Amino acid sequence: MGVNAVYLAMEVEPRMLAQAVRGFKALNILGFNVTIPHKIKIMKYLDSLDSTATTIGAVNTVVNRDGRLVGYNTDGTGALEALRKSGIDPKGRRIVLMGAGGAARAIAFTLAEIAQRMVIVNRTVSRAKMLAREVQKTTQSPVIYRSLNSPILKNELLTSDLLVNATSVGMNPRGSETPIDTSLLRTDLDVFDIVYSPVETTLLKEAMKVGAKSVSGLTMLVSQGAQSFELWTSLKAPTPIMTAALNNALRVSSR
Ligand code: NAP
Repeated sequence: MGVNAVYLAMEVEPRMLAQAVRGFKALNILGFNVTIPHKIKIMKYLDSLDSTATTIGAVNTVVNRDGRLVGYNTDGTGALEALRKSGIDPKGRRIVLMGAGGAARAIAFTLAEIAQRMVIVNRTVSRAKMLAREVQKTTQSPVIYRSLNSPILKNELLTSDLLVNATSVGMNPRGSETPIDTSLLRTDLDVFDIVYSPVETTLLKEAMKVGAKSVSGLTMLVSQGAQSFELWTSLKAPTPIMTAALNNALRVSSR
């Protein structure tokens, strides 16, 4: 694209985070992504935060704006774009969101804004409760919570039309696991699994078997990365090239 830049992966020890950020600033780099375990802690080392990152309470993208480091979060908007690109508009939908970790937080705030209602389901129910309360307060949308083992979960799924898995269940090396009993899947329950390794999780395979629309985590991974790229360069991201590169990298790493 004629951009004189490289994208490099670096592992930063939690105790070295402040120094790493100061180093990036000193080197005057264009920006960087942040991932586990730094998404929350990084916030205190930045000069300012965009409103979405403030609401979500986590940062995955940092942009150097004339020497000031500004934090953004593209996980939620990346998830939304992935759904829309796959022909699913979450607007007005009844959503069951599984998970209450970092990715689930970003998705909950973004989708609750436009959903008809949202049920947050998590193994640790106290985390689901806390997130549901926060999201409802911020978005003014109806958000309830359930435990993963709740017997009512079956009814929640029956009265919903979009299931989002934002837990790490089904991720390699435990790729055969699913976050719910797959006999609860049906044609008119669309499924979005944000796990991207494997690309086709068991949950997605089972959803496809019953004829439900399904969206993989790979689509979200590309979308959130593309949005970071656009924040850094102000250029339209080459998503087909990014998707091909990602597929290639995942194929190599799964060998
Ligand atoms: P996280 O903050 O560690 O949260 C993990 C979530 O999974 C929590 O809700 C946790 O429940 C739940 N969980 C973990 N093991 C479980 C089990 N055995 N049974 C039931 N629930 C379980 O992780 P994260 O950053 O949110 O990431 C979650 C997944 O999303 C990962 O697979 C990650 O690779 C993927 N991800 C994908 C994208 C993308 O672009 N596609 C972006 C970000 C993340 P508890 O609260 O009970 O522990």
